[in-house]
Amino acid sequence: MTEPTSLTPDAIERLTADTEPWLSCDDCFEQVDAAVEGLLGSSAPLAEPLRVHLNGCGACLEEARSLAALIADEQELTPTDAVARLDGELAR
Ligand SMILES: [Zn+2]
Repeated sequence: MTEPTSLTPDAIERLTADTEPWLSCDDCFEQVDAAVEGLLGSSAPLAEPLRVHLNGCGACLEEARSLAALIADEQELTPTDAVARLDGELAR
């Protein structure tokens, strides 16, 4: 008997690796304010779980972009520059 569709442990690890470390939208929402402010204010890198979440979650990404545009003025950036810096950090 053969099992043509069985996944090896290696394959399973590859499939799940991209979504680790996992963060919920609630967790993301709690951290995103401080993270975006830190990024724009002092070029602090985003925490890896947050970065992974924003790259995989369109709703939270939009939230983070709106936030970046909103606080850009305080950081002496234009909203466009602030969003570009966020996008650059996410693409790192
Ligand atoms: Zn999310």
